[in-house]
Amino acid sequence: MKKINMNHRVLGLAALFFSTTLLASPEWNHHGQATWGALDDSSQTTVPLMYPYAECSIGSHQSPVDLSTAQRESLANPLKIEYRHDTTPDFFNSGHAAQVNLSSENLSRLMIGNEAYPLIQFHFHTPSEHVLGSKTFPAELHFVHIRADGKIAVLGIFLDDHADIANPEFQKVLDNMPTTPATHDQNSGIQLNPSLLLPAHKRHLLSYAGSLTTPPCSEGVNWYVLPEPVSVTKSQISQLQSIYYENHRLPQALNGRSVMIHSH
Ligand SMILES: [Zn+2]
Repeated sequence: MKKINMNHRVLGLAALFFSTTLLASPEWNHHGQATWGALDDSSQTTVPLMYPYAECSIGSHQSPVDLSTAQRESLANPLKIEYRHDTTPDFFNSGHAAQVNLSSENLSRLMIGNEAYPLIQFHFHTPSEHVLGSKTFPAELHFVHIRADGKIAVLGIFLDDHADIANPEFQKVLDNMPTTPATHDQNSGIQLNPSLLLPAHKRHLLSYAGSLTTPPCSEGVNWYVLPEPVSVTKSQISQLQSIYYENHRLPQALNGRSVMIHSH
């Protein structure tokens, strides 16, 4: 982050970095996901500070989940996806995923009823994290929205590999993503429109209460997933896999939570 501009977006980013980088210092990877909760921070000497990822193990509202049990319900707070093109996106290889950080000037947001959730970043998992019964998808895209008060809403999009023609916006992400972990490219000169990564059909969506799917697995995340996938080509999926493969968390127990299907 080069721009020191303390608006809501930067504060949101700062909150995310603080919670995921500074406090939660132990290194982790997807291969060891069964024991994330037991990873210890050697600089700390007291519980619970010694185990910054404990929520990954002891949380009861974890993500992702199997969404196939969704029940119909009218949406109390209608969702509006208002994404705008970004003139200076930051292509970021986070060390765990291919990610794009939106510039601080970008006004993309998710409206949940009357509440605005600014879009901070989006990133990809291969294969998908959420599943529909036995069905998984080759990849899943997460649009992460964070308010200044710390409330988080994530919009999940499935990617299938059925397209004959490459998705041009996705190709920009693939071609400009640094291959070295923990590396940014903020000077690509590429403009990006996140709305062109959404599926055509947005009438139905699934929602539930969950968590971050990576350490520290913090709960209180409002999840929305569009069941209709966006189609990209096999070669685009291969290119994404060449950056990160199997960077997905396995489905977690619902523990009595309901998944709702909304039509709007
Ligand atoms: Zn994610």
